Amino acid sequence: MEIPDNPKDSTPIYCSNCGAYLGEWGELQQDFYRQAFGTEAFDLNHGTIIKK
Ligand SMILES: [Zn+2]
Repeated sequence: MEIPDNPKDSTPIYCSNCGAYLGEWGELQQDFYRQAFGTEAFDLNHGTIIKK
């Protein structure tokens, strides 16, 4: 994927290989966060993120 310099939440992001629209930067960031800290791998326990 191609990320412009200083992207805004509303900046559209496109695949660098085929040019397909992937979504807005803000949405993609949320997806990255969910993948890294999703409930499958992490639990929120008293405000502390604990890896299972
Ligand atoms: Zn592609």
